[in-house]
Amino acid sequence: MGERAGRRDRTIAALHGKFFNRAASLGIFGSHHKRPLRSRQVPRRRHHSKVADKGREGPLEQRSGFPEENETSMSDTASPEVTLAAVGLSRRYGNNLAVDDVSMELKRGEIVGLLGPNGAGKTTAMKMITGNLAPSAGSVNVCGIDLIDKPTAAKAKIGYLPEIPPLYKELRVDEYLRLAGRLHRLPKSALAEAVQRAKHRAGLSDMGQRLIGSLSKGYQQRVGIAQAIIHDPDVVILDEPTVGLDPNQIREIRSLIRELGDQHSVILSTHILPEVEAICDRVQILHRGKVVFADAIAGLRAFRGGHSLEVSLRRPPQLEQLAQAVQPAQVEQVSDGVFRVIAAQGQDPTDQLLRASLERDWGLYQLSPAQASVEEVFVHLTRQDEADASVAGNPSSETAA
Ligand code: ADP
Repeated sequence: MGERAGRRDRTIAALHGKFFNRAASLGIFGSHHKRPLRSRQVPRRRHHSKVADKGREGPLEQRSGFPEENETSMSDTASPEVTLAAVGLSRRYGNNLAVDDVSMELKRGEIVGLLGPNGAGKTTAMKMITGNLAPSAGSVNVCGIDLIDKPTAAKAKIGYLPEIPPLYKELRVDEYLRLAGRLHRLPKSALAEAVQRAKHRAGLSDMGQRLIGSLSKGYQQRVGIAQAIIHDPDVVILDEPTVGLDPNQIREIRSLIRELGDQHSVILSTHILPEVEAICDRVQILHRGKVVFADAIAGLRAFRGGHSLEVSLRRPPQLEQLAQAVQPAQVEQVSDGVFRVIAAQGQDPTDQLLRASLERDWGLYQLSPAQASVEEVFVHLTRQDEADASVAGNPSSETAA
């Protein structure tokens, strides 16, 4: 027995070392971030996305005037309501601009969804916000503390659950959470209470003695969330936390995230639109590294509903004829005689449709707003984005218009 326990202790000790190294290489824990971020040299500027700027005020950054990093000093000031302000973040991988001038502001008690298809730049943006990746440009300020000037103090206020949670399946839940607490520099005297609190909040109260490897994927994800909140951070950042879970587990994790939103600010990255609508207060949609949409969830719902119509015709014309009648809207056939009309931004094709149907005797018998799917939202936003880019990049098209 004694020898087995000794072997187990040695394994745990080895894992501690491994875990420290891995955490350091991932930069998950504040105390290990040594690398100076390069964005210092980049002139700071406001976020330029016209959509994202809607309803926003002045620049968020408070970079200048900070003293050298002093881990005990938390006296930096910013608006008490703003917990996170990322401004003009960009990141290049060779020639690929993975994140392009992305800004984000988070208030206490707010859950913001970062939505986008695979490859949109969500993970890259979150790695920069958590101080795990140096931005090519931009700044991040956490509770008034600049992430570049004072990485340790700023990262102490962030909890991060990466897409692949840094779990050690050989450890028991309590052992792992104590280790995570130590890596977050919690004093020994505070560890037991911190572990209890994190377990309680993540719905793991009875699981302390379970080996992580023996837990279901949903419970392992809870452990991942518990390690992200072990140090009671102001901002919690969750990267695709429901991927790979079954519907029940998804429901439970979503409700846990909503509860987190009561006390923390949360950024939730996902490619699932209903997930954002179910959990978040606001959304930012990324496409090819750029913010192409930023609004409250009500705005997203209106956007989904306000851009798509379903029309049923008794004597339908050819798809091309219908498309011509409602230009610049796009038309797709749903089924026999039923079409989806996706409006261009700022356009309402209802009148065109009614007029054309009457004039050409198409026998319109049903016209209703349709909720655009996530793909349609992306397609719509992308088309708009590309149209804007081509106008901006081609001055002659401005004069020709
Ligand atoms: P998302 O999280 O939205 O799926 P990512 O941030 O992972 O998107 O990727 C954004 C873009 O950056 C993609 O084109 C991806 O191929 C590229 N990328 C991500 N990580 C790296 C890396 N380490 N090296 C080179 N390119 C990368």
